Amino acid sequence: MKPVLGIVLALSILVIPASAQREVTYDVSFPRPEHHEAEISMTVDGTRSGELVEFRMSRTSPGRYALHEFAKNVYSVEAHDGSGAILDIERPNPHQWNVVATGNKVVLRYTLFADRAGGTYSGIDRTHAHLNIPATFMFARQFSDVPIRVSFSLPNESWKVATQLVPTANETVFTAPDLYYFLDSPIEISDHDVRSWNVEMGDRSTTVNLVVHHAESEVEVDTYYDMARKVVDEEVAVFEALPENDYGTYTFLADYLPHVAGDGMEHRNSTYIVSTRPLSTGARRNLGTLAHEYFHQWNVERLRPSDLEPFDFEEANMTGELWFSEGFTSYYTALVMRRTGINSDSEFASSIGGAVNAVVNLPGRKYFSAREMSMQAPFVDAARSVDPTNRDNTFISYYTFGNAIGLGLDLTLRSAFPGTTLDHYMQLLWRKYGETEIPFTSSDLRNALYELVNDRAFADGIFDNYIEGHEAFDYSTLLARAGFHVRQRYDNRPFLGAQLEEEDGGVIVAGPTLETGTLYAAGVGQGDTIVQLNQTLVTDLEQLGALLDDIAPGDTVSITYTQRGDTYTSSVPVAENMTLEVVTFEDAGMELSETQIAFRNEWLRSRVK
Ligand SMILES: [Zn+2]
Repeated sequence: MKPVLGIVLALSILVIPASAQREVTYDVSFPRPEHHEAEISMTVDGTRSGELVEFRMSRTSPGRYALHEFAKNVYSVEAHDGSGAILDIERPNPHQWNVVATGNKVVLRYTLFADRAGGTYSGIDRTHAHLNIPATFMFARQFSDVPIRVSFSLPNESWKVATQLVPTANETVFTAPDLYYFLDSPIEISDHDVRSWNVEMGDRSTTVNLVVHHAESEVEVDTYYDMARKVVDEEVAVFEALPENDYGTYTFLADYLPHVAGDGMEHRNSTYIVSTRPLSTGARRNLGTLAHEYFHQWNVERLRPSDLEPFDFEEANMTGELWFSEGFTSYYTALVMRRTGINSDSEFASSIGGAVNAVVNLPGRKYFSAREMSMQAPFVDAARSVDPTNRDNTFISYYTFGNAIGLGLDLTLRSAFPGTTLDHYMQLLWRKYGETEIPFTSSDLRNALYELVNDRAFADGIFDNYIEGHEAFDYSTLLARAGFHVRQRYDNRPFLGAQLEEEDGGVIVAGPTLETGTLYAAGVGQGDTIVQLNQTLVTDLEQLGALLDDIAPGDTVSITYTQRGDTYTSSVPVAENMTLEVVTFEDAGMELSETQIAFRNEWLRSRVK
């Protein structure tokens, strides 16, 4: 045995030190925060002479599904060896800088411009360095599984670093076990306030940090902290389980300042929650974003569509399951805000009303199912291009669509299988695919619904009709069970179906015309000028409104308009404004029965024990 052991030891002495040397180190400084710049030096240690190192800026960011091309904000790139000698850089594509190592180290330096503190991008100014990792840091393909160390030189003594990166004894130095963890751990460096508390469920516990960069009094932060705790407890109660956070902590990185870009972006152990709304007037709306992003640590971060695992930092990420990951999360955002008692029944009604109206009324549903809408995320999820689209007619956000499906499914379950709710479905999915972190497929979601209710036809019907098909739930009947009334917002009003504006003494069509509207039927499109209505000259919006007061849906109307230089007249039937809203029976002046009260309480009461 001894000789064999001797060989193993000798081999390990040869192999382990060589691989252990591979490490990535970033040094970050902010010499010109007023000009939104950072100087970043990235050192890859442990190269072999002659080894190609492919440095890249990410094209994507976790939680966003379109391409963002972060390389556009990088310049003054130069490469050195360990002794400071310049190395050649080759550019094989817009995102990549290739360098051939001449020794055991390559240092790449660059300047980053960053002026959008939001969920996806970075923002540097005199108040903070808000650094979303893929928007800030290059990575090296050949060094994706090695440990990372990042250190900051701060321009302001009051600035502190908040992040889910792993802290060290030095307050400005952090580590990550590998690139994947690093890219998922955003950073906020500022003079911020922190509130921390412990959340427990079963034998698991997490320290939650609420980091708030703001310009108000600490009283506002304390009030917000109290509300945030309620939301967190209510969401833990939905799943009756707490996710296992890496390093035992979860961090909210909140920026509530006038110069930020409102957004919320989930990560495994942290989230950016960013808004221009100050806490003094916008706390409850800001809390809605907090609720949404915290729910994501179950739904999407761990209970994760298989198409998103691993997340691709080089191509757009597509999945058909965002109606579930984003839509159900949106449904639970409204539900949790109600269950905490922070929002009233009337506010809950108004928030679900928007989703019900969109799914029932927008023409998009006949073009794409909820699964197919999800697959368009790479085109709509903060994606930018300049050519017009027909999305107003063909698209419904998977947030909205999925929100309405969550509502419809929850109420259908409660009605058809008393005692069974969407919470039970989420708990079952959590046990099967979330706690175990086994990425799920579309058929896994379908089969889990079957498993929940033990009725194959029911599960197939839900998925075939509402998720992969083009039908909408019967919201009027379902919501009436809980004493919520679905009604038309306007009484017998005509529906033109476009945004109108006054311009050059006339009325122009400022946006796309909806297929369901009167203007579309008349052949009117975006950019056209409405000249006459029933032979009367149209001069401004107020006068047009008065003309419409005398027209009822179903009447025939003559519309004269100019389109691309030519004048046309069409006579068409007037469409009706079918906009729906959801109100409580009480607000509608309707009587609420004992059965409805019981149903509503069971649905909307707090689940915290
Ligand atoms: Zn979301």
